[in-house]
Amino acid sequence: KFGADEAVAWLIAFQGKVSENKTYLTELDQAIGDGDHGINLARGVKELANVFEASSFESASDVLKAASMTFISKVGGASGPLYGSAFLKMSMKWKEVDKDITMSELASILQEGEESIKARGKADVGEKTMLDVWHPVVQACSESDDADHFLQVAKEAMEGTKEIRATKGRAAYLGDRSIGHIDAGAMSSYYLFEALNETIK
Ligand code: ADP
Ligand code: MG
Ligand code: MG
Repeated sequence: KFGADEAVAWLIAFQGKVSENKTYLTELDQAIGDGDHGINLARGVKELANVFEASSFESASDVLKAASMTFISKVGGASGPLYGSAFLKMSMKWKEVDKDITMSELASILQEGEESIKARGKADVGEKTMLDVWHPVVQACSESDDADHFLQVAKEAMEGTKEIRATKGRAAYLGDRSIGHIDAGAMSSYYLFEALNETIK
């Protein structure tokens, strides 16, 4: 079952991970970007927790929509609009499923998120961005009903961004020097999927 309460639990778990690892995310972004990813995202998820305190929601779709608005208005940088558009599209897709969501329905929802990141970021898989985690996770969810399968895939994909040469985002300016570092947005996306795994199992 995945209704409003579960969606809030997912995003609160994400908030916890982002807040705990704010410095680490910022360090990752410092190595190959401008060192604000942890700060940007922690500000956004903190505001989201305030939104959850202040209002109640009817459905997971409504929760994701509120998350989208908060990411767009509070996170900033490249990642705010990217997460914001992903959550908006996922919110819309979630209206098509009922509370007893299957793993393959979840895959189709996450795929909407992936597609909207691709469109907004004008990016594709293999460019050392958050998409390098989103794409394999969508695949994993469509392959197996086991939530630990997508978690394992997400972890390997996040670690795998280390080997990629960046061609999108600020890290692209570094060329070959971007190799050897995990992408900050791939790391935060990993936290998002780790939080999802914890919520649904
Ligand atoms: P900024 O780079 O503006 O400071 P953040 O530091 O908050 O923004 O976010 C950086 C992350 O956003 C990167 O690590 C990468 O995962 C993601 N990103 C940046 N540009 C793109 C893009 N064009 N497409 C997809 N993801 C991107
Ligand atoms: Mg940055
Ligand atoms: Mg920035």
